[in-house]
Order: sequence, then structure tokens, then C-alpha cells
Amino acid sequence: MTQKRDYYEILGVNKNADQITIKKAYRKVALKFHPDRNPDNKEAEENFKEAAEAYEVLSDEQKKARYDRYGHAGVSGNAGGFSGGSMNMDDIFEHFGDIFGDGGSPFDSFFGGRRTSSRGQRGSNLRIKVALTLEEIAKGISKKIKVKKQSNCSQCGGSGAKDASSISTCNTCRGSGYVRQVKSTFLGQMQTTTACPTCKGSGQSVTAVCTKCKGDGRQYAEETVDIEIPPGVAEGMQLSMRGKGNAGKSGGSAGDLLIVIEEIEHESFNRDGNNIIYDLFLNFADAALGTSVQVPTLDGKVKIKIPPGSPAGKIFRLKGKGLPEVQGYRKGDQLINVNIWTPKKLTSEEKKLLEKMKAMQGFAPAPEKNEKGFFERMKDMFE
Ligand SMILES: [Zn+2]
Ligand SMILES: [Zn+2]
Repeated sequence: MTQKRDYYEILGVNKNADQITIKKAYRKVALKFHPDRNPDNKEAEENFKEAAEAYEVLSDEQKKARYDRYGHAGVSGNAGGFSGGSMNMDDIFEHFGDIFGDGGSPFDSFFGGRRTSSRGQRGSNLRIKVALTLEEIAKGISKKIKVKKQSNCSQCGGSGAKDASSISTCNTCRGSGYVRQVKSTFLGQMQTTTACPTCKGSGQSVTAVCTKCKGDGRQYAEETVDIEIPPGVAEGMQLSMRGKGNAGKSGGSAGDLLIVIEEIEHESFNRDGNNIIYDLFLNFADAALGTSVQVPTLDGKVKIKIPPGSPAGKIFRLKGKGLPEVQGYRKGDQLINVNIWTPKKLTSEEKKLLEKMKAMQGFAPAPEKNEKGFFERMKDMFE
């Protein structure tokens, strides 16, 4: 990964800039590198994306605060956002399209809000939940998941037409799916493209519709999707798989598949961030004498030594036996919390032995010697 530039530097604002200034600065940079003004210019596109990423973080007070404290590390990999670097042009127009046309500004006529970068109508996003065990989270997992989603119609293949002879090229756009308009603006002549009003972007005109999908081009179908979950995810995180959602209409691109993570409760571990907590129960004799025990971890059993005189509440740490960070190299630890197990039922022999033990000096809890008890102190006060 290449070194990321400072977000404030990208937008050309200082750290104390308020939201209005940030928005203005972003609009300025975004207009400079806007793809309509820089057709087929890869560098401009990168700059445009970079600015959108900076704006995505700095326009959100919470993300901005995290960025101020931790830099890029504080805002990368945040669930749901795209500062992880997976932003594409469609995302930008979807999220920030309003910046190019927020009522009455000269930018309205400029880009006409959302730019139609592709044909047809984009499919909607699809959200699914995936339940994972801690073991699966520790290693990451690929899964095959059945999802019910809108796919291209099996009869017409998505065209919405009855057969090949009922499809012809749209006369308005001559098959391109969009129409170009040249407008004069205060910045000079700007060329804009919008979806063809006749064919809605498909580039085709259909004279007879498909009997199965009634011309929509899509149908609900069950599909098996391969998903890849990176290690270290947590309850509530959302991953997105581009283009795996519902099919688009009239040749539009598919929406995204959003995967929401659920964590299945583990029978012996609790999770605390990237640490794994394990409750170890020792009998009193083992805690007093010391012993060695086997404890489970997320990757197999580990033998640990319990030193003599280990009290309840003592915590042993197995370094690196926790969960990995989603986007990082660090791993959490496993914390072993010592509990003393007390038997509920005793045989008469066990009872006798414990009574005997109790009478021994070493088994009395050791309050400060010579200190008077509570009642004695009260008595002293009133006499
Ligand atoms: Zn069809
Ligand atoms: Zn057309």
C-alpha cells in the first residue's frame, strides 16, 4: 500500500477548519478533478477519489476526531465506510452527489447531481447476516452462502425482450444509453452526459416484452455466493462485496452485497476487543499447592503452570493467543482468570478433613493482628 497523504493537505484546509470550510474546500478540489472535466485522465480520477476519501472522514465529526488522534490508522477499516480504500466512482456520486448540486448553486447546472457513469439502473444493495464462531473469526473464513436475490431473468438474459427480433437500437441515443449535452457555464463550456430519456440508459428499445419477467429483465432466484471473511471481524461489522447484490436494470451494474457479522456465543470463551477471556476453575488445594493445567485456546490446548498460592482473581496472560486485528499485524491475548471452585456437597470424611484443616493455623485468614473487632471498637467508643 502506498503512503496516504494527509487529509487536510488534500483538501487544502487547516486542522481547525469548520464543516462549512471543509465542504467548500472539497467542492473546489472535486470540481477541479471532476471526471467530466478530465475525461480519461487516470491521475485526475485518483485525485478525485483521494479528495472524496478525505472529505468522507473530515465531514464526519467522529471520524475526524479519530483521524486527528490516530491518523490514517484511526479511520481505516471502519465498518461500513470506505476509507479503507475501496471507494469507486459510483460510491462517490452516491454519497456526495449533493455536493455538486445543493440548490441554487452554479454547480446544479454543472454536473446535474449524480453523474450517470454507466448504462441502465444500478441494482440495489443486498444485506445478509453471517454468524461466525470465535474460531472462524480467529482464522478468517471463506463460506458459500445461499442468497435470494434479483438476478438476470433466465428467459431473456436481462434484456426484458421477448426475443432477439423484438430488440432494436434506441433511436434517441443510437445505442449508447446516454446523451451528451454541452452547456455554457461561468467556467467555460462543460460537457455533461445523462441517461437517455427514451431507453432509460439501456441503449435498446424493446417492441415486445419477455413473458417471464414482464420486461423488467430480472427475477428472484437463489444463488450461491462465495464470501471471504478476513480474520478479526466483530459483531456488527459490515463488509461489502462489490457487484454481488441485486442485478441492475437495463444493463445497469449490480448492487453490492453487504455482509453483517454476527458472533456466536462461545461455550468457554468471552471476547473483550481482541482479547479472549477464559475462566479457569481450580480447586483450593491446587491453587494453594500450585499445579499445571491444560487450558483451551482458539488454536488447541496449552499447558500452563499455576504457581503455589495463586489467589482467586489472579489473571494469567497468554500473549498472542487472542484475535488478530482486522487490518493490522497485532494480535490480542488470552486472559486466564483464576476462580476457586467450592464443592457444594461433601462426604462426611471430606467434612472431617476440612474441619481439621480449618483448625490449623495456616488456614485462618490473616486480618491485621491485634486489631480489635468491630463490636469491641464500638464498645470502646461508648465507655
Ligand atoms: Zn425476462
Ligand atoms: Zn436511448
